[in-house]
Parts: sequence; C-alpha cells; structure tokens
Amino acid sequence: AKKNGRDNFEFFSSSMSTQALERLSLENSLRKAVENNELKLHYQPQVAIESGKIVGMEALLRWPHKDLGIISPAKFIPLAEENGLIIPIGKWVLNEACRQNKTWQEQGLMSIPVAVNLSALQFRQSNFLEIVQEALTISQLKPCFLELELTESLLMDCSEYSVRLLKTLRQMGVQLSIDDFGTGYSSLTYLRRFPISKLKIDRSFCQNLPDDSNNSAITRAIISLGHELGLSVIAEGVEETRQLNFLEAQQCDLIQGYLYSKPLDAEEMQKLLGSVDVL
Ligand code: C2E
Ligand code: CA
Ligand code: CA
Ligand code: CA
Repeated sequence: AKKNGRDNFEFFSSSMSTQALERLSLENSLRKAVENNELKLHYQPQVAIESGKIVGMEALLRWPHKDLGIISPAKFIPLAEENGLIIPIGKWVLNEACRQNKTWQEQGLMSIPVAVNLSALQFRQSNFLEIVQEALTISQLKPCFLELELTESLLMDCSEYSVRLLKTLRQMGVQLSIDDFGTGYSSLTYLRRFPISKLKIDRSFCQNLPDDSNNSAITRAIISLGHELGLSVIAEGVEETRQLNFLEAQQCDLIQGYLYSKPLDAEEMQKLLGSVDVL
C-alpha cells in the first residue's frame, strides 16, 4: 500500500484522485469528530531531574477514530491548519486542558501547570487573548497553571502587536515556552524580545546522547544559553537512562519522555497525580 504522505501526493498523479478522496473523507470525519466532541487530550508528565518529581504536563491531542484507531496529531493537525478547523480545535484544547487541570486540583491532586500547544494560526486570530481569558475564567484555573507552547515559526512574525500580546499573557501569570527549540529559524533576538520562561530542546537533539557529538554540543549549548538568560530548560523525547545522565551532568532542569512516561489518557494521568505525595 502507498503511504499517504503529502510529499508523495504531488508525485503520484495516477493515484491522485484516490488520495484526494481519502483526504476529503478524513477532513469530513475530522469535522464531525470536532462537532461531536470526540477529540481527547492525553497528558505527558514533565519531571524535574534533580528531585525526580512531576512538575508539569503537556496536553497532547488524540483523535480516536472508529475505523482507523487513534489518529496522530502529526497527521491531522496539518490538515486542520489547512482547512481552518484548527481554530475550533485549538479553542477546545485550551478549554479542556484548563477544565481538566482545575478538576484535578479540586480533587486534591497535585497542582501543576498544564502546557498547551499553539498553532500559529490560532495565535494570529484577533480574539486570541479573549479565548485564553475565557478558558481561564470558565474553568477558574489560576493563570500560573497554564503554559502556552510557542514555536519559533510562530514567533518569527515579531510584530509589536505579538510582543505586546505575549507580555499581556505573561503579566496575567500565564507561562510561555518555546517548543522544538533549535529546529526553526535561528534568530535568537526573540529570546530577548519575548517574555519566555522555558526552552524545550527538540527530541531530535536529544537522540543518541551522549554518543552523538554534534547533539551533545547542541544540547549543552542550548542549556547554557537558556540558563544565561534565566530560563528553565527541558529536554524532550528522553527514552534512555544514558540520555538522562548526560542531561543531568549538563544541569538540564527537566525531562519529558518515554523514560519517565508516555502520554497518558486522563484517567491514567489522574491515577499518577494521585499516587504522588502532595505536600
Ligand atoms: P510536540 O509538541 O513536539 O510533542 C511531543 C511529541 O513527542 C508528542 O507526539 C509525544 O507523544 C512525543 N514523545 C514524547 N516523548 C517521547 C519519547 O520519549 N520518544 C518519542 N519517540 N516520542 C515522544 P504527538 O503526541 O504525536 O504529537 C505530535 C505533534 O502534534 C506535537 O509535537 C505537536 O506539534 C502537535 N500537537 C499535539 N497536540 C497538539 C495541540 O493540541 N495543538 C496543536 N496545535 N498541536 C498539537
Ligand atoms: Ca509541544
Ligand atoms: Ca516539542
Ligand atoms: Ca516536535
């Protein structure tokens, strides 16, 4: 069977109609899934290396499809960005992450921030600030328990307006981090311009640590850059103890990855939060 990758799409014109149809049907079922409230959030813990404690979690979208199984966001987010569905989806994610986090706090579980991924399209919406404020108001979640993950491409549009918008969010107490750090456009000026509190080292740079000398150099450089700027640094996609040991030696602050936990559904995450001692 042929892969459905978008790159292949351009080349195999003979199968174009089939692929176009598949795409259209995926698009329609995504639209229905949004309407019927069928999307789910999973949560992946973020752990402080020094204490070994869970100090945060990232909300990751899942689309349970009745025929195709769980569809990865890597597949449907790009589609949703092309057809505009990312706007209602992104709004739902914000509301649901805030609602769920507040519910866990009310159940007496550990209070930690939830990080939400933002699409550039969402961020550029004129009412983006209101959407965030609304999610916080409806859920009653304190802003310091919400973190927004921004990508470098989102920050590339360095308009005065976006700087002000981010400063407003920061002043409200919302935390801001840069996702997949180092994979986008490498102008570092935005580190000064934007009120960021955390850098997330992309998984590709954490692979084969410490054997890969380029990746070792890059992660070390990102950690010290982050620390010089007063930011906390988290390594993504950490799967092995060897990686953790290297990151610990470099004084990286946090890790997120299969070594500690895969993304968990809400029920599993709730159990995990409940099993951790609350001071
Ligand atoms: P991301 O933001 O870089 O999220 C991290 C991805 O790495 C997640 O994939 C996570 O499951 C995976 N991961 C975590 N630890 C490990 C590990 O140790 N090894 C490996 N191999 N993978 C690991 P996932 O959940 O499939 O999400 C893929 C991407 O989809 C995300 O990448 C993010 O860009 C996007 N995404 C997910 N949820 C949302 C959302 O609510 N809104 C938007 N706009 N994008 C989202
Ligand atoms: Ca992310
Ligand atoms: Ca990432
Ligand atoms: Ca990524």
